[in-house]
Amino acid sequence: MLRLKNINTYYGKVHALKNVSLHLAEGEIVTLIGANGAGKTTILNTISGVTQAKGGEVLFGKEPIQALAPDRIVRLGVSQVPEGRQVFKPMTVADNLMLGAYLRYRNGDDKGAIKKDMQEIFTLFPRLEERREQAAGTMSGGEQQMLAIGRALMARPRLLLLDEPSMGLAPLVVQEIFKVLRQLRDERGVTILLVEQNAKAALRLADRGYVLETGKVILEGAAGELLENAEVKRAYLGKE
Ligand code: ATP
Repeated sequence: MLRLKNINTYYGKVHALKNVSLHLAEGEIVTLIGANGAGKTTILNTISGVTQAKGGEVLFGKEPIQALAPDRIVRLGVSQVPEGRQVFKPMTVADNLMLGAYLRYRNGDDKGAIKKDMQEIFTLFPRLEERREQAAGTMSGGEQQMLAIGRALMARPRLLLLDEPSMGLAPLVVQEIFKVLRQLRDERGVTILLVEQNAKAALRLADRGYVLETGKVILEGAAGELLENAEVKRAYLGKE
């Protein structure tokens, strides 16, 4: 479904991605793990069109998307949940969700379908329904993360890109959110690319993973294998 081929990205003189190649099959959950500054966010931003690569190719299905504007990429079925959630804090939960469907409005998608999708998001995250008229900024970190995911889902993505959804959240909340991610894949076939510092939780959820170090993929494999890999254990999994 998605393939990155030899992506090279620079920020000025910083060579942030060095010949990165990776792929996701339809319906897979794949995780990118790596230390701060390894290039994980840059990979997500390259896919969503926020950051332009200097060289290489990004294929979504058979279509090269590396030169497309971000809104075109959203229309093709790719939604990103940014690091730090970035919900619109003064706006209500319901209005934040409606913003996620903005491009569908512009396309003339009917309001009934959009309302129905919002209802489905409330089924996934009942806490959002209880708080639908609450200002997003007054919600807990976990609730804001749920809202950020819900907002991305309102665009009806086939591929969901998530940037550190567990950041700053209590383990139980992380479990709750990861359970919904699994449900999205199992029940709706959404393909998921998950960037995480919480490597253990991410590898337990994912089918496969890539390990990044200073802009390079240094290791890839089945999630179960990476969980058992001595190097991964030492560098990313910590002590049990
Ligand atoms: P983190 O876990 O801290 O978010 P990351 O793995 O997502 O890290 P990136 O944010 O992709 O890493 O950054 C990769 C490298 O590119 C880092 O060295 C970072 O300092 C640099 N970088 C990222 N964005 C910019 C920018 N806008 N301008 C200059 N350098 C940048």
